[in-house]
Amino acid sequence: MKEGMEQAPADTFIYDVAVIGAGPAGVQAAISAWHQGRRVLVLDAGAVSQRKGRAYWAKSVAIEDAPGLPPLTGPKLRRQLHGLLTSRASGEAAQPRIALVGAYVLQMRREGDVFAVVASLGPLRHGAVESLATFRARRVVIASGFEDGWPEIEVEPGQRMLERHRTAFRYAGNENGWHLCIRCDGHLHRGGHFALLGVGDSIYEASLGAQDFTSRITILTNGRPHGLSDAQLRQAGQRELCIDTRPIARHLGEGTLLQSVVFTDGEELRADGFLVDEGLTPNTQFLAEFKLARNADGLLRTGEDGAALRADGQPEPGLYVAGDLVAGQRKLIAAAMASGQDAGLGASDSLREWQEP
Ligand SMILES: Cc1cc2nc3c(=O)[nH]c(=O)nc-3n(C[C@H](O)[C@H](O)[C@H](O)COP(=O)(O)OP(=O)(O)OC[C@H]3O[C@@H](n4cnc5c(N)ncnc54)[C@H](O)[C@@H]3O)c2cc1C
Repeated sequence: MKEGMEQAPADTFIYDVAVIGAGPAGVQAAISAWHQGRRVLVLDAGAVSQRKGRAYWAKSVAIEDAPGLPPLTGPKLRRQLHGLLTSRASGEAAQPRIALVGAYVLQMRREGDVFAVVASLGPLRHGAVESLATFRARRVVIASGFEDGWPEIEVEPGQRMLERHRTAFRYAGNENGWHLCIRCDGHLHRGGHFALLGVGDSIYEASLGAQDFTSRITILTNGRPHGLSDAQLRQAGQRELCIDTRPIARHLGEGTLLQSVVFTDGEELRADGFLVDEGLTPNTQFLAEFKLARNADGLLRTGEDGAALRADGQPEPGLYVAGDLVAGQRKLIAAAMASGQDAGLGASDSLREWQEP
């Protein structure tokens, strides 16, 4: 059990609101529901798995635009936000008002009026569960974010993402390594040469964002067709944007400093900044039982107050969504916290005995 984490009662106690994920969205959802007097449980995979959360990835890059906070690296931001939760942990009576538990949620189901949330309290070792617990709550806020896709360069055999992408991870989250968000890290390479890895609309969108910082931009497709439309290609030509479709063989770097990539023909491409956009995987595997509305990326559609919508467009009773998981929302910390507040208050308000007649 990590410092600051609660040993919350599983199996018997029924919480008012369970929040899955303690990134910025989940933290805000929990605090907003707690502030209305609800008994809140937060289950977070960061302590027991490599699913740390996007907010906590930045190893040496300071996040400069998180609401109300000084510039902070990912691990420091995590300490700050989790500190906010645990400072609200000592409520009246024996039952903590916000319980923060290191737990990887594996499954969720309805049991009458409550949700049963099944989670592993220890690391999953090659799929095997160390210690399983079931928590119950009347409402659930899903704030588990998504995992970014990583570059298919020097991929090592192995099932686990960390093993497969070991080389890319060495450079990820560093000032001179793989970036994942142009709006977040573009300023680090102002006036420099930016190499953007990916294909199609999403990488072109990143190139539009990169123009805020530099006009020296190369799109790398790593051997794939670029997937750009004729209109995008025409504009790319006017912008003198380079598109290089050669397959990439390896990274060239020193320590955690990525300097260049080497193509399979042996030529090297140096750049000041590297960004990858290879798609995403929503952290929603535990929702298999629920038929929720999603966009093309698998992100969840929401209605009023962050209510999760079903595939038929109707709200899924008792279920709320916040943060990066919300379809159409900006993927930034302030937006995650704002939607966390919506979802936390929505969940709390729905527990009132008297509703508008
Ligand atoms: C490298 C990088 C740099 C960034 N820099 C900035 C920046 O400078 N400014 C900015 O505004 N935004 C930045 N962002 C974007 C920002 O981090 C995200 O928009 C924000 O973190 C979204 O918050 P979230 O709470 O929705 O998700 P996350 O931060 O991803 O948190 C999700 C949480 O859910 C937990 N979780 C996942 N699966 C499970 C499960 N099955 N069971 C239990 N818990 C689970 C994870 O452990 C994690 O704690 C950056 C992102 C990256 C990747």
